[in-house]
Amino acid sequence: MKVLAILYNGYKAAKAEPRLLGTVENELGLRAYLESLGHEYVVTSSKDGPDSDFHKHIADTDILITTPFHPGYLTKDLMDKAKNLKVCVTAGVGSDHVDLNAAVDRKIQVLEVSGSNVVSVAEQVMMSILLLVRNFVPAHEMIERGDWQVSDIARNAFDLEGKVVGTMGAGRIGYRVLQRLQPFNCKELLYYDYNALPASAENTVNARRVEDLKDFVSQCDVVTVNAPLHEGTRGIINKDLLQHFKPGAWLVNTARGAICNAEDVASAVKSGQLRGYAGDVWNVQPAPKDHPWRHMKNPLGGGNGMTPHYSGTTLDAQTRYAEGTKTILQNYFEGKPQDPGNVIVGLGKYESQSYGKR
Ligand code: NAD
Repeated sequence: MKVLAILYNGYKAAKAEPRLLGTVENELGLRAYLESLGHEYVVTSSKDGPDSDFHKHIADTDILITTPFHPGYLTKDLMDKAKNLKVCVTAGVGSDHVDLNAAVDRKIQVLEVSGSNVVSVAEQVMMSILLLVRNFVPAHEMIERGDWQVSDIARNAFDLEGKVVGTMGAGRIGYRVLQRLQPFNCKELLYYDYNALPASAENTVNARRVEDLKDFVSQCDVVTVNAPLHEGTRGIINKDLLQHFKPGAWLVNTARGAICNAEDVASAVKSGQLRGYAGDVWNVQPAPKDHPWRHMKNPLGGGNGMTPHYSGTTLDAQTRYAEGTKTILQNYFEGKPQDPGNVIVGLGKYESQSYGKR
């Protein structure tokens, strides 16, 4: 079989650090395994446009491996070219770069390594909430500049204690964020999700479900987005919804950039309607140099906690999602059942309830 992997270039770092498994150089550690079974393994970072390796090789690929960090967008049109394609594996979590509805129609299975990096992301969410609420980035920039003016920072720095924090999406990551918020003595923890948590799980983290999205955001000092990107979440955080946020709320999005309207969020930060926005996911990746999220600032000069997409690709996470990808391939080659939690699209139907209420 032909296995095609779309990964990001790691260059010098990947040569020096073999645990950077999700790179073109280190190939998810799969080459020896795949070749020992007689499979062809093509690895590339070239993914966009008709002349890219992705578009050329997809025509006779049997198994496609992609990562959300350098997404190879598998559109309906590309699927029509991919006559042999049977399985798409996401090395990581989040398979929105695949047209899932088209995969259902064509009986192409979509699997991901569920859970592989959810702790990594939950930790990044905690860091992002704290750096916004405490006004960390401008404080650090001041130090690097050689300045020292405490009042300029403290005028927009707060405690997380006593604030209302809500997660949009209370699945693996959202729930772990609620768990990690426990010792901060927040005023209240809320969640918005069409799948209610079991009562025992709700009680464990003392979180209250709010069923209406506008009502939910209007109660939160901090909103963290932990839902997948699908037709029900694309662009859902836009000018209209932002009007229902508490004035000066903080927004953290490590789920997918396109859940937010980029211009609307940037305007809300610039006007101070949002006190800050942090996250690592962008509506286009790599983000163009002039993307409004790179330089947006609130009226007091802070409120930007953006990073490149790396929260789910720590070295610890890479070990887990590389191993998980291999297990999915082994199961497939040996005709063994897949872990049900890893199956997003099975043969001709959605197996996950996370990509829209069906
Ligand atoms: P999960 O499937 O365990 O949980 C997702 C939850 O979102 C589910 O409970 C689902 O019901 C809920 N949901 C779906 N649509 C919703 C909506 N419209 N409103 C509210 N809730 C909704 O997934 P997870 O492991 O928690 O991951 C969530 C997402 O985080 C992934 O799909 C991915 O996009 C993103 N992610 C990002 C990184 C990163 O590196 N930044 C890494 C891993 C995952």
